[in-house]
Order: sequence, then structure tokens, then C-alpha cells
Amino acid sequence: MSEALKPLLPGATLGVLGGGQLGRMWAHAAQRMGYNTAVLDPDAQSPAGLVSHHHIHTDYLDAAGLKQLAAVCQAVTTEFENVPADALAQLTATLPVSPAASAVAVAQDRAREKAHFVACGVPVAPYAVIDTPEQLAALLAGAPNAVAIDDLLPGILKTSRMGYDGKGQLRVATRDELKAGWAKLGQVPCVLEKMLPLASECSVIVARGRDGAMVNLPVQRNLHRDGILAVTEVFAGNVSDALASQAITAAKAVAQELNYVGVLCVEFFVLADGQLVVNEIAPRPHNSGHYSQDACDVSQFELQVRTMADLPLTQPRLHSPAFMLNLLGDLWLVNPSGSEPHALQTEPAWHKVLALPGTHLHLYGKREARVGRKMGHLNVTAATPDAARAVALQAAAILGIAPF
Ligand code: ATP
Ligand code: MG
Repeated sequence: MSEALKPLLPGATLGVLGGGQLGRMWAHAAQRMGYNTAVLDPDAQSPAGLVSHHHIHTDYLDAAGLKQLAAVCQAVTTEFENVPADALAQLTATLPVSPAASAVAVAQDRAREKAHFVACGVPVAPYAVIDTPEQLAALLAGAPNAVAIDDLLPGILKTSRMGYDGKGQLRVATRDELKAGWAKLGQVPCVLEKMLPLASECSVIVARGRDGAMVNLPVQRNLHRDGILAVTEVFAGNVSDALASQAITAAKAVAQELNYVGVLCVEFFVLADGQLVVNEIAPRPHNSGHYSQDACDVSQFELQVRTMADLPLTQPRLHSPAFMLNLLGDLWLVNPSGSEPHALQTEPAWHKVLALPGTHLHLYGKREARVGRKMGHLNVTAATPDAARAVALQAAAILGIAPF
């Protein structure tokens, strides 16, 4: 069934919209394989721009910038789901773009995303779309065509667009809090989602080629703190076999039904009763897949390169149990929770962390540390899950990260 694709071989130039850490790690993977890279990002100091052959710093919708990007490269991807889908659509006229603008547009909008999950037959948290004051009023009044409000409270009100790392979200327990919360979020289109009793969270990364071939990374078990990913653990048995196969099947269905090309992350909640519920998707490599750089024979970034260059996809193999610790800006700040401006920055004791066996440090080249800002991550690999956990806990203690 797979049609023969003509691959873009090393020596070609590959481009990315967005210059953050995901673009930087993609550029590293592409360059290691012999490709040149081009980055379009408005920030002249963007992490990916700093390490690329071409750095075009214009706005994402700047016609001249997009034209320049199209002129220097032979295929384009994105590393940032809030890149305007229009920019991808414009590039599509001249060169292969993956993922497609239409798929990114779904991932950019929680309401469309949830409708897609429902269409795929994958369970979602009970939710209601609140785009207009009339929709909110109907919900509050218990209108016959509205979801029953009592089934959604206490809930989380999430902006449909532009949310990340828990931003653009409010917890609302009552009808009054819902009204006040929507006003506080500026009455922008939102989704109200029931607050679910989470036993744990997990995610799956799939890569799908233009010919429909699909491979996946093993299921990642994720720990979030304050709405931000803190720790990912991956080893055989990190989740039950039944749950793992359910999550992988669901993730593949979500990619297949979008006719997706590229790397896609699907995030899930595991409820107290064991039920699996899909949360959201990211149309790109994901923070929870960073362990694959050091623990798998093919990383999520190499998968992204392979999908955009129409190279074969081989099923990645986890060769080591792994823990990934996110390194947030807090670790650099002398007094992160104090009220003073965080002017004082100090470099964490990397030499102590790197004295531990199987530690792999990844820093993104961001010059300024801020509370909650993703500055890097530490992958820990070992021969057994227990050994990896022990080292990860030691590293966390050195860095001042709470134990897990
Ligand atoms: P990111 O893009 O960084 O993954 P986000 O801002 O898109 O984050 P979500 O993934 O929607 O936000 O939520 C962040 C975290 O908040 C989740 O990983 C989960 O821990 C918690 N959370 C979100 N929705 C719910 C819910 N309905 N019930 C319980 N917890 C939730
Ligand atoms: Mg999320």
C-alpha cells in the first residue's frame, strides 16, 4: 500500500518554523545526519537560530521571511504549535510541509482537538465549548441542548487557543467562579473541562510518514507540577501492558484520522478507576519524549527529520530504562519564591550532577532564567529502572528538585 517516496538525502537543507529548544534539538539531529538547517523565528537569539546554517528572524507571517525560508530549504516542519497555520499554508504552495497546516490547526484549538478525539472514538473528559456569552448562559441555565453543568464542576476552564505549560487555565468550582473565570480570561473562546481524579499521566509519541507508515516510542509516564511537566519515566512496566497498548492504539488512531505526517505527541490521563482519557495533542516532538535522545536507538527528533525527508521509519527501541528531569529556570535563581526581582542568577552544580553515572545534560542556550522557564533537561539512563531512579533522585537532590 505504501507508494515509493523519493527521499531528500543528506546535503539538502531542512527548515523549521519556530526557534525554541525543540527546533534546536531537531537541528542537532538533522545536522548529525548531514543536513543543513534553516530556522525562521522573530527572536535573533532563538535557541535553534543560534545553531543553524540559516536564521531568518522575521515574524511568522512575514511574506518576505517565508519566501526566504522557502528559497533556502527543500522541506519545512514546525516546532511550535502556535505558529500561525497560515504560515504553513503559504509555504505549502512551494515545498513539502509536515505536519500539514490543517493538522496543526486542529492541535491549535482545544475545541477542534476534542471534537477530533470524539470522532476517533477515543474517550475525552466531559467538556463544553464556551465561545460566546450565549453559550455560557445556556450552559449555566441548563438549556436542553447544553451539557449538564453539574457534570462539569468542579472543572478547569482552558482557553481554546495559545495555552501551554498550564497557562490560560483556571480552576472553577462553582457557577459564579465559572462566570468570573471566563471574564478573567477575557471572554475568549474556551473549553470547560471536568476536573478528573488522576491516578497518573502518560503520553505516546508516534511518527507517521507520507506513505502512511507509523512507528511509536514506548509509553511515557509523566509527572506534572504546577501544570508543567517535571519528570518522565520510561521502562518496561512503567504502566500496565493493557494501558500501554490502549494508549498506543489510541495515539495511532488520532494520527491516522488526521492523515498526519510528522511527529505527534498524544497526552493522556489515567483515572483513579484505571480508565484512559485523552487530554491533548502536540503536532511536534514533545518534552515527554526527550528521554529518547539518550535511551532509544532513534530519537523523536530523528523521527521528525526522517518524516520530513521521506526517509524510512524504523520502530525505535528503548535500550535503557530512563528518567528525564526538566530543568526549570527556578534552579538558576537565588531566591525564586521571594518577592525581590530575580536578578541574581547562578549556574547549578552541573559538575556534581555529571559525576553520577548515566547522566546526560541538555541545556537550550537560553540566556535568562525565569521561574517556570524550560532551560534544559537531564536524562538519566541505567541498566535497571531502580538504578536509573536512584541516580535521578540523587541528581534531583543536588539540584534542589523535589523528590518524586
Ligand atoms: P502543555 O501544553 O504544557 O502540556 P497545557 O497548558 O496545554 O500544557 P494541559 O495539558 O491541558 O495544559 O494541562 C496541564 C496539566 O494540568 C495536565 O497535565 C494535568 O496535570 C492538569 N489537568 C489538566 N486538565 C485536567 C483535568 N481535566 N482534570 C485533572 N487535571 C487536569
Ligand atoms: Mg498538556
